[in-house]
Amino acid sequence: MADGLKRGGTRLSTIPRHTLWVWCQCGHNGGVTVSSLLDRPNVPKTVGELVAVMRCSRCKRQTIKDYVITYSGGSWEALQGTRKQDG
Ligand SMILES: [Zn+2]
Repeated sequence: MADGLKRGGTRLSTIPRHTLWVWCQCGHNGGVTVSSLLDRPNVPKTVGELVAVMRCSRCKRQTIKDYVITYSGGSWEALQGTRKQDG
């Protein structure tokens, strides 16, 4: 349990600021922030459960080949809060 992000068993509610990147068998890949997933009504509890039900937006199949979880650090939100948009 040394690794904070043990694959599969990580609870989504504990990593709202992370981004889940998934690769499909067809070669398509994409990332989604966990926080955006948590807003949905029926969300799997763990990363493993989520990946199991994810569907590729290109081939429409549930053939996730691999996935990785990255930490974005919430820097975007911090930036929004402290700086004004200048275009
Ligand atoms: Zn696909």
